[in-house]
Amino acid sequence: MQVGVDRSLCEANEVCIGFAPAVFELDDDEELRIVQPNVPDSEVERVSQAIAACPKNALFTVE
Ligand code: SF4
Repeated sequence: MQVGVDRSLCEANEVCIGFAPAVFELDDDEELRIVQPNVPDSEVERVSQAIAACPKNALFTVE
């Protein structure tokens, strides 16, 4: 699984970071940065939860 973010939608509210802090973080400009865009198997469940929970629907997957 690969994960991406639509920056025009993301409001950097950190919801996804709460679910998968190993994959998502805020950078120095308070913008969401995807640390591991190629999601390791061990993080797929957490990332899937983060995608479902994003209130802006800003996250998407690329299979
Ligand atoms: S949960 Fe959605 S809106 Fe919030 S920081 Fe993550 S991608 Fe952005």
